[in-house]
Amino acid sequence: MAKEDPFTSAVLSKDLRTIEQLAKEYLQSKDVMDPGAVIEFVDDVNGRAKQLRPIDALGNKPLNGKMVIPDPPTGKYHILINSKIVSYDILETIVHEFIHLFDYLSFADRHCNGDCLSIEHHLLFRPFYFYSEFRAKSYGLQGRMKHDCTDNIQFFKDRLVPYFKEKMHSGPSEYDLIRTLAEIHARSELMTEREISNIIQTIFQGYNLNIINGLFTYLSNSFGYYDDSLLPTIDSTLSDL
Ligand SMILES: [Zn+2]
Repeated sequence: MAKEDPFTSAVLSKDLRTIEQLAKEYLQSKDVMDPGAVIEFVDDVNGRAKQLRPIDALGNKPLNGKMVIPDPPTGKYHILINSKIVSYDILETIVHEFIHLFDYLSFADRHCNGDCLSIEHHLLFRPFYFYSEFRAKSYGLQGRMKHDCTDNIQFFKDRLVPYFKEKMHSGPSEYDLIRTLAEIHARSELMTEREISNIIQTIFQGYNLNIINGLFTYLSNSFGYYDDSLLPTIDSTLSDL
């Protein structure tokens, strides 16, 4: 009999601490250091985030997860996970928020003398925000796909590609566009160059494909480890859209 996947067992028994451990092991395997964040499973992500960082204006939209750098600083970083989400979304969300935290700390070190609270005023914050979303989305999905066998390449081609095509033709935000590129990137190792190019053409029909392909290339080239040297290029490419 095949050995049961440890993550699947943890999901079935809602063993959140094992899920957390497996998410951290996955990140370690990708050389993403754990910056010592506190993971909290909470019923109200926005409410808890507001306690930790009262100055932020937060929406009321229910969130699966959120990374919070408390202000005033407490010396701790928090990753809040909605306790109502189940199954593989938990793993994807933990990995996703960890990547954001890792990226924020890296950016603060390089550009803001380690001061995380001033990041949002930096000139490169806009491209950084999109770059980090691309990384978080792609790493989260890759972590999930290691365990969730229903999320396979056929499902992507048959169901998700038409879904994203529709989404990209109903007035997407830049944020949606970057996340769609990350959905393609997360599966790029499972496809040939030609398949990737065809899928980009299908989803982004009517767009300026030179710009879309350029953006995909810049984001992919600085994916494997935190490398923000292409942020100015990513910024100007986004402005060309
Ligand atoms: Zn995100």
